[in-house]
Amino acid sequence: MSTTTRRCLFCHALETSPVEVTPGSWSMHCESCQAQGPVKPDADSAQEAWASTVHAEELLRTVIDESPDIILMKDWDGKFLLGNRALARLYGTTPQELVGVDDGAFNPNEEQVAFFLENVRAVMRGGETEIVMEESTNVETGETHYYQSIKKPLLGPDGEPRILVIAHDLTDLQRANRVIQDRERSYSYAMAAAGEGIWDWDISSNIVTHNSKWVEMFGITSGELQHPIEVFTEILHPDDRDDVQRALQDALSGSGTYSHEHRMVHRDGTMLHVFDRGQVVERDEDGNPTRMAGAVSDITERVLHEHRLRVITEALIDANVSLERKVEERTNELARANAELQNLAWRDALTGLPNRLAGMNQLDSEFARLNRNETVTSSILMMDVDLFKKINDTYGHGVGDDVLTHIANTITESLRAGDFVSRFGGEEFMALLPDTDLDGAVIVAEKIREAVESSPIDAVGTVTLSIGVTVASSADAEMDIAVRRADTALYEAKRSGRNMVVTRSADLG
Ligand code: GH3
Ligand code: MG
Ligand code: MG
Repeated sequence: MSTTTRRCLFCHALETSPVEVTPGSWSMHCESCQAQGPVKPDADSAQEAWASTVHAEELLRTVIDESPDIILMKDWDGKFLLGNRALARLYGTTPQELVGVDDGAFNPNEEQVAFFLENVRAVMRGGETEIVMEESTNVETGETHYYQSIKKPLLGPDGEPRILVIAHDLTDLQRANRVIQDRERSYSYAMAAAGEGIWDWDISSNIVTHNSKWVEMFGITSGELQHPIEVFTEILHPDDRDDVQRALQDALSGSGTYSHEHRMVHRDGTMLHVFDRGQVVERDEDGNPTRMAGAVSDITERVLHEHRLRVITEALIDANVSLERKVEERTNELARANAELQNLAWRDALTGLPNRLAGMNQLDSEFARLNRNETVTSSILMMDVDLFKKINDTYGHGVGDDVLTHIANTITESLRAGDFVSRFGGEEFMALLPDTDLDGAVIVAEKIREAVESSPIDAVGTVTLSIGVTVASSADAEMDIAVRRADTALYEAKRSGRNMVVTRSADLG
């Protein structure tokens, strides 16, 4: 135990000495800060007691100095009786320099100094310990620190008022709190500002926090943003409930991602189509999901629009199909009408054979073919009913018509496939036999003539036909020349007695 150190507990000064306050009652007195404490009467034991006190006090002093909290003691005038290192650091000084002066010695902010003085006096006057929150600015850095201060009024050895202040620096805690508050504020702003309904599901408590958009979307008017999970499941459309719960369960037990389109029912009974998606955002140490958050969008408009679009598209497809059908029907009708017109234009109504126009057309295309292939010859047969006028005159025009039809059929039946026959005039027929020379044509002409002669008609009897035959080839300058040659041959047949075949070869013109 050292007896040499007599450092003052409060100001660390060494100028201390035992003082006999009243006879037998001793006190140690510090010349520097005037601190005083009771000790035993005799000088030696007083000295020893002082030394032990000083040692204990030194220990206390160390604790006080090493404390991260600010510890100070002030008198009624606001002068420091004690200030630890934490305070000295804040004021940019040493604990020794603090003793005997007030805050004004270090803090240029007079207003703050006056406030501190009034504040400690109020506590000293009140005599009650107070715990308050306050702030102080570091003179060097200008940084503001926040403290929770315990202010305890005390009495000095002579009953003079003093105050002990222990200030715990909460600046870092305050800052962390502020960061958390800022984050929470930003989160709640983001939740409120989001155009979508946001949900945050605490899985262990089954409480879901929503933003205001979510509650508006489904008409939940309680004003609360936190609800049990049942509030969500109740407003799911009954037909979609199982699907949604399965999708959520899959997300929880699998990838952690949930995404689903379904129907929900607004509190006013209207049905909403929504697109809901979420993600597990927290898990416990075993990996079990504890929190899931997500967003829901109202896609009713889109779904209804798509539905309308589908209905319209189907109607359009139907309309198109019936339109196509109508177009096809109309096209067929037109084709039939065209064919009819064609028939009228190219066919003879009485016999059904191609008419004169069709015959001329056939002669033209045959002539073009002959010109393309000069080795080919074709034959033309001009046929005229003998004394037909007499039939008309004798039996009437109706019978005459029947005779014409009969002869037309007889001629057609005598020709080969590929041969062509037309009603070229009143009772005159023209046949075109492609790739046929004069001999071949005569055989055909005889066949026709004989067929007509050997098929008498009821009421009329035997009718005969005169036939003029010639060949046509590219050697003819034009088809008319060959036709005239056949006509000449026919005239020859008439002149020679009728019911006969007369030929006229090309070299006779
Ligand atoms: P030929 O042996 O010299 O040819 O004597 P033909 O009486 O046949 O001669 P003609 O040319 O003088 O007579 C043809 C008659 O055919 C005259 C005309 O009234 C009649 N005829 C023309 N076209 C038709 C028709 O479509 N129907 C009826 N019934 N008669 C017609
Ligand atoms: Mg005639
Ligand atoms: Mg005739």
